[in-house]
Amino acid sequence: MTLPRIQILALGGTIATSPDASGAMQMGLGADDLVAAVPLLATLADIRAETVSRVGSHSLSFDQMHALAAKIMGLDVDGVIVTQGTDTLEETSFLLDLLVERDIPVIVTAAMRNPALTSPDGPGNLLAAVRVACDPWVKAHARSLGVVAVMLDEIYAAADVLKIHPTRLNAFASPQTGPLAALVEDRVVPLSLPVRAPVEAARKRLTAAEGREQPVALLWLGLDEPGYILEAMVDHRDQLGYRGVVVGAMGGGHVPERVASLVGQLSEIIPTVVSPRAGGGPLLRQTYGGPSSEIALRKAGLIFGGRLNPLKARVLLQACLRAGLDRTAIAEIFETFG
Ligand code: ASP
Repeated sequence: MTLPRIQILALGGTIATSPDASGAMQMGLGADDLVAAVPLLATLADIRAETVSRVGSHSLSFDQMHALAAKIMGLDVDGVIVTQGTDTLEETSFLLDLLVERDIPVIVTAAMRNPALTSPDGPGNLLAAVRVACDPWVKAHARSLGVVAVMLDEIYAAADVLKIHPTRLNAFASPQTGPLAALVEDRVVPLSLPVRAPVEAARKRLTAAEGREQPVALLWLGLDEPGYILEAMVDHRDQLGYRGVVVGAMGGGHVPERVASLVGQLSEIIPTVVSPRAGGGPLLRQTYGGPSSEIALRKAGLIFGGRLNPLKARVLLQACLRAGLDRTAIAEIFETFG
């Protein structure tokens, strides 16, 4: 029997750390080390391992992730597993989902507990990811699933998965939809398929690898925000260098009244997306009146894309800008995300 060819691409992260002389964990392990730690993998798949980088995911760049997407597009294998840090997995997996168009499983996995601890989760997560990549239901639905994250025996859609805790083992969840499937014993138990139309439609207008860096600011609005940063962005846009803004807005798409007009001015000069700081979920369109309401903000030209949380909205906005899309095209893409 020929085993499925599974390509592991290791970026770094806790899963790939080892202790230095002082006991502090440092990036060190490569893809071969991760594979060697799980001998069972060789019985499940023809594993190919490549160390792409050795960095914490908090230091990954959009350039690196666009290059990774282009690399995945060119691989002649039956499945791809990216190992990386957990810190930005919710963002990188979504970017890969937006850029990679393949009919094979593409999985991102990581570890919360480092290899020096008594019960590291890296080896188990890697084994689970390989089992998921080789599973008949996953293979048959690879296109419908898109890029998925496999953590702690659950499978999550890239558009929905969030890191919801900084340290505990069960740090990942998809609060809006729940997991797509669970790994039980060595079986994948399917639970649901994701709604893919918005991602598929966006991908048609995006491009992997090409394009220049397009910095997008993320402004998380809190109670009584005075708006000094917004003011600076309106007055000194060119010096600051941002090409787009995501506003982490309150409730169904609201901002404090004292910054409403600044937010409107900002959106006249730079694509500005309203995204729910509540963590993602459709925004309102026509419920509240007044200058800081969703009705006023939409009228002022702000782009609404509520189903994506602010971090994912920022990923999508930078991808749109990188692809050279104008404000109208960007608004059309975000609109499909609810
Ligand atoms: N700081 C690490 C990283 O994201 C944390 C982790 O891997 O869990 O790379």
